[in-house]
Amino acid sequence: MSDAAVRNVVIVGAGPAGFTAALYAARANLRPLLFEGPQPGGQLTITTEVENYPGFPEGVMGPELMKKFREQAVRFGTDVVSEAVLSVDLAHGAPFRVSGSSVLAQARSLIIATGASARLLGLADEDQFMGRGLSACATCDAFFFRNKRVFVVGGGDSAMEEANFLTKFASEVTLVHRRSSFRASKIMQDRLLANPKVKVLWNQEIESYLGEPGKRLRGARLRDTTTGAISEHTVDGIFLAIGHDPNTNLFKTMLATDPKGYLLTKPGRTATEIPGVFACGDVQDSYYRQAVTAAGSGCMAAIEAERWLDEQPGGHD
Ligand code: NAP
Repeated sequence: MSDAAVRNVVIVGAGPAGFTAALYAARANLRPLLFEGPQPGGQLTITTEVENYPGFPEGVMGPELMKKFREQAVRFGTDVVSEAVLSVDLAHGAPFRVSGSSVLAQARSLIIATGASARLLGLADEDQFMGRGLSACATCDAFFFRNKRVFVVGGGDSAMEEANFLTKFASEVTLVHRRSSFRASKIMQDRLLANPKVKVLWNQEIESYLGEPGKRLRGARLRDTTTGAISEHTVDGIFLAIGHDPNTNLFKTMLATDPKGYLLTKPGRTATEIPGVFACGDVQDSYYRQAVTAAGSGCMAAIEAERWLDEQPGGHD
């Protein structure tokens, strides 16, 4: 394992927050090291067209946008390590030790930008059906459901987007939502409800998956959330679009979280309770959760880290 020299800034995470933090830290001559982890590029790499990132009036594909983020950070001197961080030691103050599978980095300051991951229902045999008809990413898996019948679960913007996207492949898309109204934005709801290939099952939740574990999913048993009535439905695929959980496993015993599990930072700042440790992007934001807000908070984290380093005896090298 290489034991790198002490770095001014180590960044964990490679979504809009991580790469923006890297860009700003690199342009401040801090020579940041960024671990890009298991999903380089973050959640935008599993989406199709991004229409709400400013500066792209015609829209831009998520993976293409993240490629540009990465290139821009590297152009100014970010060192990228393509491996997941396995452990972090924050207990002994700076320099913090950050270990990947082959790289051990020491960090005068640490920026956490690990984002969030798709939520699952937590039902029996869920892991057995994953990839065998069950998916949490329509943009990744829709292709496999050409002319098939699928359910999409959820009532937020993700569910609207995934259901609409799936109509390009599937013969029938049914949105299963546990309440009688959506929480998605009006424009996304209107787009969905105007799509003739989409049906909606209101007030329904999945009680269990149908099929033999380890084999293909056959459908689902639904429960009416108002009457309790149970019904069985045969479908070829089920796409979960029920939100995300912050990726805090590495840090949650060392840093405070809010009741939803998101890392806590000082109000209006990215500084955590540990001096020299900053958190930005979706891992600390359960409210906005947008690429542009994540990027903005990545910029804040780099600026805060730079100022913090300047205040330390000896500053930064
Ligand atoms: P979300 O807004 O939190 O919506 C999650 C949905 O899943 C809700 O409708 C919720 O039902 C349902 N749900 C949660 N847990 C469930 C469970 N155990 N069983 C059944 N249903 C469950 O999450 P999101 O749609 O992923 O959106 C997250 C953020 O990203 C939002 O701020 C959204 O605006 C943004 N986003 C934007 C775009 C875009 O603009 N293009 C696209 C995607 C996401 P209830 O409504 O009953 O709580």
